[in-house]
Amino acid sequence: MVTYDMTKTPVVNVVDDIIANASKAGASDIHFDPRENSLMVRIRVDGDLQDYTEIPKIYERNLITRIKLIANMNITESRLPQDGSIKGTIKGINLETRVSTLPTNEGEKCVIRILDYSRSLQGIDTLGFNESNLSKLKKMIAEPNGIILITGATGSGKSTTVYSILQVLNKKETNIITVEDPIEMNLEGLNQVQVNSEIGLDFATVLRSILRQDPNVILIGEIRDSETAKIAVRASITGHLVLSTIHTNNSLSTIERLLDMNVERYLLSSALSGIISQKLAKMVCPHCRIKEPTTPYQKKVFKLALDKDVDEIYNANPKGCDKCNNGYHGRIAIQEVLMINDEIRSALNEENLEKEDLNKLVYTSDVITMLQDGLLKVLDGSTTFDEIYKIIDVDDDLDVYCKIRDIEYHENNENNNVVEKEEIKEEKEETEEKKENDIKINTDEEVNLPIIDIHTITKEDEVL
Ligand SMILES: [Zn+2]
Repeated sequence: MVTYDMTKTPVVNVVDDIIANASKAGASDIHFDPRENSLMVRIRVDGDLQDYTEIPKIYERNLITRIKLIANMNITESRLPQDGSIKGTIKGINLETRVSTLPTNEGEKCVIRILDYSRSLQGIDTLGFNESNLSKLKKMIAEPNGIILITGATGSGKSTTVYSILQVLNKKETNIITVEDPIEMNLEGLNQVQVNSEIGLDFATVLRSILRQDPNVILIGEIRDSETAKIAVRASITGHLVLSTIHTNNSLSTIERLLDMNVERYLLSSALSGIISQKLAKMVCPHCRIKEPTTPYQKKVFKLALDKDVDEIYNANPKGCDKCNNGYHGRIAIQEVLMINDEIRSALNEENLEKEDLNKLVYTSDVITMLQDGLLKVLDGSTTFDEIYKIIDVDDDLDVYCKIRDIEYHENNENNNVVEKEEIKEEKEETEEKKENDIKINTDEEVNLPIIDIHTITKEDEVL
């Protein structure tokens, strides 16, 4: 933790210093938490909050007021939540931030979100897409119409991907209009509209007007309701390329969500071009990572998901080094890119489409699933198995694959489901061998089934 001598340092300098240092540390957010006896300052780096400094309670009010002042907020109002922003240069760093305050029982809590779009400006080639996914993405955005959905939870890097795509599409012969809430980054050459629900300017209202503005490309910040979903589909049918985001986990749940929104199936099936799903995993520090043998459980996961025998992988060094945080530094996107093919299109048209049939169609297309992409990124030493296990429901995913491949995963492995992950290590050699054999036999039997695109996976391996 950093310590400030508040008796000698003006509050103005302390605030500048905290913001500048947080930005240098690559933090996404700075939290000013009022506690009973102090103001705790924490910063979020690579997804995790860490303590930065603790300010004596008597300086809390001045410090929060200073932030509100530079964020253009009402400094006399402390009982209601407020939003603001800081744009400009602090200690030589060019910054764009969003600021939010919230009255709590211990005082006014303040959070500064640091918007770092330097990454968006580096192009879609730098977003961590594997070769196959990148070429699918380029194909989808080269089409003059269709809907491309970018899905993932909050903080999964969706905005970065969206803005990177918009940059590729941003050409002088193209009219791009966005409707956003909020506009996270100003891009020269785009017409960006901020939603303002207080005066009735919601997504649907803006979208109806946008369609009369001769657009080529439309970005809908987020599809939250069925009205927006329906307009998005209609816009794409009438010859526009539509980009949007949606809060779902993967390609499958995105399709299900859209169907739940009562979007007309025949329109959706012809409009949807593809779904990009993503999550962020911490990157293992290349300076101190350690190579370790895989556990039987990890071996099994690699074998089932990638059809690969993996004996050792990189793990993070919990002690870390001077270049990282406990063995991790930065984050990498784990992605799944589904291009809608003719089979999926016609299936979407069917009223009584079963979830399992959809599963099968999606995972027998040439998609590299999020789990597969994550495991490939473990193999190339970008991230760790632990990180993938944390962000992806590995067992649920494997269960789906095995069902599709007719491998009776749970029956064959009654005693070593993930729940008992730790117990596997304790199992006797012979039992383990027997089980490994079972899996091998099953996998071998299924090798010719086109469930996982072996070709794509092999291509990836060559790159690794
Ligand atoms: Zn390190």
